[in-house]
Amino acid sequence: MSSSHSHFPGADQSQAFLGLGFDPLLDLAAFPHLSETELAEVAPFGERCTFVENDPLVSAGDYPFNSYVILSGTVRAVDVSTGERVVFVRYGAGYFTGDIDLFTRRPSIISVEAETSVEVVRLTPKQLRDLFTRKPQVGEKFWKSYQRRRELLLKSKFRGLSIYGRKDDKATLEAVEMLFRNSVPHEWLDTSLDDNRSKLEQIREDVQSYPVVAHGTRVLFEAPTRGQLADHLRLRGQLPNSVYDVLILGAGPAGLGAAVYAASEGLSSLVMDGLGPGGQAGSTSRIENYAGFPDGINGRDLAHLIYLLKFGADFHVPSRVSNLERRSNGLYRVRTIEGDYVLGKSVIIAAGVSYGLLNVEGLNTFQGAGVYYSATNIEARLCRSSAAHVVGGGNSAGQAAMFLSQTADEVSLLVRGPDLRKMSSYLSERVLANQRIRIRCNTEVVGIEGVDHICGVHVRDPNGAIKEEFTSGLFVFIGAKPRTDFLPSSIVRNDQGFVLTGQDVALLPVWKEPRPPCTVETSLPGVFAAGDCRSGSPKRVAFAIGDGATAVTSVHKFLEGTRPERRSGEFI
Ligand SMILES: Cc1cc2nc3c(=O)[nH]c(=O)nc-3n(C[C@H](O)[C@H](O)[C@H](O)COP(=O)(O)OP(=O)(O)OC[C@H]3O[C@@H](n4cnc5c(N)ncnc54)[C@H](O)[C@@H]3O)c2cc1C
Repeated sequence: MSSSHSHFPGADQSQAFLGLGFDPLLDLAAFPHLSETELAEVAPFGERCTFVENDPLVSAGDYPFNSYVILSGTVRAVDVSTGERVVFVRYGAGYFTGDIDLFTRRPSIISVEAETSVEVVRLTPKQLRDLFTRKPQVGEKFWKSYQRRRELLLKSKFRGLSIYGRKDDKATLEAVEMLFRNSVPHEWLDTSLDDNRSKLEQIREDVQSYPVVAHGTRVLFEAPTRGQLADHLRLRGQLPNSVYDVLILGAGPAGLGAAVYAASEGLSSLVMDGLGPGGQAGSTSRIENYAGFPDGINGRDLAHLIYLLKFGADFHVPSRVSNLERRSNGLYRVRTIEGDYVLGKSVIIAAGVSYGLLNVEGLNTFQGAGVYYSATNIEARLCRSSAAHVVGGGNSAGQAAMFLSQTADEVSLLVRGPDLRKMSSYLSERVLANQRIRIRCNTEVVGIEGVDHICGVHVRDPNGAIKEEFTSGLFVFIGAKPRTDFLPSSIVRNDQGFVLTGQDVALLPVWKEPRPPCTVETSLPGVFAAGDCRSGSPKRVAFAIGDGATAVTSVHKFLEGTRPERRSGEFI
């Protein structure tokens, strides 16, 4: 089929291809053409069927939906999310329909209609998975094309869901964050701007409460709860009554790492997260120290990639765990603030930490672009022969200042308190002796400057005067608090709340088992901890993923040791 098929009479050229600027069909990764041999390989996996002109093959919002391999005729992919009906692409025999949401088990975000009568092979998501396993070469074409199509769609004027609400409205921000964390295509229209307010008035008058969630001109919700929105988007389903082999609490790198290994090794597993996959990495603009991605990878993309590789692990978001208890039959019961209960034979806690953030307007925009929460060789390089600012008075801040002083011309250590008493004395002595570190007590960062990258900080000095200073990097080390408050007291933690595991619990009086604890096992047998919330773990993505995998190895050992006493399929 030639690309000229994508031009249609009467179309507004600025809207053609959703404003992408070129015919998506020319992108061979997004729209590969299957050869006769490949079509013959694919056909036995699905069922043949036909559609007449203008029949929908898939409608936006359909769930579940299928992929169709076109044998004859032409189809068109249509979007209405901008409020207008726009054809994104047209294609015919040898091409196939579908999108990445076939695998995330979410509703279709776009419609596909028969332009002429068409003959197709229908492939359900399960049949597609069979194809991937048994015919990996042709399967790879489908898999890669779905990813690339999503990239193209996000580059285009495709809007997805529209979220209307002001930037100072907490409910609006929470909805936007949930959509962002779960990679749901959306556009946030800040209603403090006149333009967006009048767009909203065209589809809904007299709005009482925000956010307003719409698809094109159709209002779906006014002030939905997180649960309503999540259910609509199929982010979570009904929890089963049966018992999972392992419950994974948290879907940051540690939880996702655990999920991939657990599910690929045949353990039934459920991942629960209060927000969505990604954890802290989800808010990181670029992770440069993760093997396999020499150019670095955006934290959210990495999370999405791991998420897609989930090999069948169940995900349930948003679900914030509020309680974990061991029952008399040895099973673990987890409760969430959304009111769900679920049982598991073992548990992996991967709840991570929350970093202390400076209360400075615009700081989030510059994360990874001059504002950092770690100081590694990469950041040190960025500050070479220049000025850097480190905020904090504890050991992390001291170590970062020492490290950065090897490359930066001057490092300002901005301490809110009057001295370095919070720092270990060996370290504060080194910091004090370092000619390149300027210790500035009773000072605070109150503002930042920059366009794409931070270039200046506003520092309030002990007299209250505010001065703008040039900087090549602002490093924030004002504490990380583990998210472990919801755990029972039988899971022993250190003074800061980090979970003790393995050898650290072996000698504790609470450890009553005749066997030593497994690697990363907590003081509650059968409960494991992985990633940043675990005492002694390096606070890094790669370590967190590895920790998740280690925890799964220990879960296997634990389940093997307890198998005779346990029964699958028990009910709450
Ligand atoms: C700004 C920033 C930049 C960073 N840059 C890098 C970098 O370049 N390279 C690098 O290696 N590391 C970097 N890190 C550190 C890295 O992101 C962390 O080490 C890693 O994310 C830890 O993974 P985790 O899964 O243990 O925890 P987290 O990422 O914190 O994930 C924990 C998850 O658990 C969920 N959760 C918490 N409590 C509950 C509950 N009660 N119920 C349900 N869910 C819950 C949270 O919503 C979260 O999704 C950075 C961190 C930050 C903040």
